[in-house]
Amino acid sequence: MKMRARRDSTVCVHGGEDRHGQNTSLTTEIVQASVFAVRDTAELEKYAAGKSNAYLYARYANPTVAVAEEKLAALEGGEACVVTASGMAAELAIALAVCKAGDEIVSMLDIYGGTIKQFRDVLSRCGITTRFVPYNELTSVGKYINGRTRMMFLETPTNPTLRCVDIEKLAAIGRKKKLCVVVDNTFATPVLQKPLALGADLVIHSVTKYLGGHSDVTAGAVAGARKWIDPIRQMMIHTGGCLDPNAAFLMIRGMKTLQLRVERACQNAFAIAEYLRDHSKVERVYYPGLPDSEGHEAAARQMRDFGMMVSFDIKGGGKAARKFIDSLQLWYLAASLGGVESTVSYPVLTSHIGLDAKTLRLLGVSPATVRLSVGIEDSADLISDLEQALRRT
Ligand code: PLP
Repeated sequence: MKMRARRDSTVCVHGGEDRHGQNTSLTTEIVQASVFAVRDTAELEKYAAGKSNAYLYARYANPTVAVAEEKLAALEGGEACVVTASGMAAELAIALAVCKAGDEIVSMLDIYGGTIKQFRDVLSRCGITTRFVPYNELTSVGKYINGRTRMMFLETPTNPTLRCVDIEKLAAIGRKKKLCVVVDNTFATPVLQKPLALGADLVIHSVTKYLGGHSDVTAGAVAGARKWIDPIRQMMIHTGGCLDPNAAFLMIRGMKTLQLRVERACQNAFAIAEYLRDHSKVERVYYPGLPDSEGHEAAARQMRDFGMMVSFDIKGGGKAARKFIDSLQLWYLAASLGGVESTVSYPVLTSHIGLDAKTLRLLGVSPATVRLSVGIEDSADLISDLEQALRRT
């Protein structure tokens, strides 16, 4: 089936999984194998010459994993995809495939804290330097790029203050300088935003979040043109960050309902953002759908809806934030996001722990900042729980 011609909700269900005309299970089987029987030595010879699609060893390729890759490639509009053991493993495979010792990365500073730490503490040990660009300097990103820069790394909306950046504009700058432009699309998902169509070379995901969608799988992925994906797959193989077939099955199953979950959670998030904006105990709300949010115009242009994450600064600082979080009865306190269940997180003690005060200030993160991952429950129940917890602060 030509999935590129189908609409997103159809691709979510059918992408990579054409079972028509076969007497087979309707769902993709979990091929629980670490190694495959090879027909004969002639096949091995073809494999060695790169001319065989045979399965050999599960770290290189596995049929269940291949379906997960095809589904996401179709949904992102990429030629190919590699899925990995986690989002961090995907990022590492990209950086090591694109950059070598002496090269540089230009990255937004407003990215997932774990990514900052990987660039700062891991890639630096491989001789790869990252120049971090604060949000308000992105318009002059050119001054952070030099002859050694190989990769531009973007994330939008950002974590946790949900700032948005103009992918098309920044990707055009990166491409002009012959950089590999990478966009972390975890918070938006491909049903809301398609970075490859906006000019990015690669799109990466923490599949652990919305693509999995049920808080039961850790996985990562990168999609894009084959010329980028082939060396990234080699790097994933060499660094060992392959995805287990059981995890690939959960990714496939989670993605089938992606569009439905995202639509419902976006509606809930919008209602919650408006409720918080009007609340006397709330200092400031971060949500790309609010007209005064940073990068609202870019979000309105490049996203189909404004996303499922809402953050806010509570009046009363860290003490009030912790009292609020500890008073919630329906929302779970959890460090991750993107599941069907609504969760709250406290960035200064989780995703952003270990970052210095100056970086936190530039990111707009303070002890008063609370991050909400809005799920698919009834919005009235979610708001009523927020209300009782705010009253206790
Ligand atoms: N990118 C973003 C935006 C994230 O939020 C995360 C994790 O929270 C990652 C990447 C890393 O993904 P993982 O935890 O699956 O390794």
